[in-house]
Amino acid sequence: MTGVAELIEASRPRSPDAHLVTGDGTGHLFLPDGSRLFDLDPDLLDEVEHALEAGAVTALLDRLKLREVRYVDDAPLDSPPVHALSLAVAQACNLACTYCYAQGGEFGGVARSMPLEVAERSVDMLVGGAAPGARLNLAFLGGEPLVNRDVLQAATRRARVLAADRGVEITFSITTNGTLLTAEDAQFFEEHGFAVTISLDGPRAAHDAQRPFRGGRSSYDVIMGNVAPLLALQRRMQVSARVTVTPQNLMLRRTLDEFVDAGFHSVGFSATLSSPTGRGELQREDLELMLAEMVDCGREFERRAAAGRRYPFANLVNALREIGRGTHRPYPCGAGAGYFGVSAEGSLSACHRFVGDAAGEMGSVHAGVDRSRQMRWLTDRHVHRQEPCSACWARYLCGGGCHHEVIHRGRPACDYIRGWLHYCLGAYLRLSSQAV
Ligand code: SF4
Ligand code: SF4
Repeated sequence: MTGVAELIEASRPRSPDAHLVTGDGTGHLFLPDGSRLFDLDPDLLDEVEHALEAGAVTALLDRLKLREVRYVDDAPLDSPPVHALSLAVAQACNLACTYCYAQGGEFGGVARSMPLEVAERSVDMLVGGAAPGARLNLAFLGGEPLVNRDVLQAATRRARVLAADRGVEITFSITTNGTLLTAEDAQFFEEHGFAVTISLDGPRAAHDAQRPFRGGRSSYDVIMGNVAPLLALQRRMQVSARVTVTPQNLMLRRTLDEFVDAGFHSVGFSATLSSPTGRGELQREDLELMLAEMVDCGREFERRAAAGRRYPFANLVNALREIGRGTHRPYPCGAGAGYFGVSAEGSLSACHRFVGDAAGEMGSVHAGVDRSRQMRWLTDRHVHRQEPCSACWARYLCGGGCHHEVIHRGRPACDYIRGWLHYCLGAYLRLSSQAV
């Protein structure tokens, strides 16, 4: 796996303040603070190389006046407005996925559904507290959210009405295993412009090995049959596939091609770093293989982009968008900031993965966000407080890694994360040079 070894070596952190992206005789300087990219002429490239070797980058950046403005400071976010909630409308599921973070959908408890009152309370909290002009998202997850379809639909309708009254924009999303989808669901999601994410773990055999029905029966054909009308209908609705990657389904390129050909709006991959039983967790050699596959998918994206063709590889599309915007953030996501998960009983947690997990408790939809817990969370989780993140050039793109993974497993994937981001920076530079 020479390519991956080289990528990991090239993305090794040499300074927290600067990173070099070189290739095809060109050199580019990436400054984490502000996520800024600069072209380097050969002399300056040499100078930066030497400064990195000598541990003297700060002085060089000072001389070049590139450290005069500080983009990210140590201050935690202070009571950000709630802009997204994810409702665990059904803490129950009809599949038996081998790695499920929700432990069969029940999050370590007994199967239950969210009462309408809790869903309504959640909607009121999200929309009622929003400033006019705000952009909100209401997400439905489980377990399997379609187990509680009536409450999902009622909450959506209520949110639409309240949002219109209040002058805020609201979007809807659902993550579903696809086994219960009906033609009526397709109409409903299209009418409300849902972003629908179908959990699919690869071509049939790979998927069925990880996501069988309870009892072991294959789920793949049922899901693909159910999804077909949604794929055909998508106008306002977008239907994406999300692949949870374990050591058993590392054939990412084949998976991506199969799902792109099937008509999904986009396809994304998510590495399994922690699971309640440890099953499915990726180890170092798996992550190296995953990185090789991700780059293979990325190279195909670049080839198709050069030919003016679409290839909706979500991980790369998102990374390119963030690099293009100069995204620099001290957290990996909005969990516990403007985004919360809501349990069936109405407890708030830092995100959907922390439902039922004391580590992420944040109040309730009845009593509101527990501001002291939130403040402690945002202070502790700031990337400047994370090690070894404070010394890592990727920290404001990565944000320190998914809080849930980090709290429950640590940071086993830093080489993978940096290797991938290093590749994405190069892809961004190559694609931008073609765009002129
Ligand atoms: S978690 Fe992210 S920011 Fe922290 S060391 Fe790893 S790659 Fe760098
Ligand atoms: S903590 Fe992890 S699972 Fe939760 S929203 Fe952030 S990245 Fe996603």
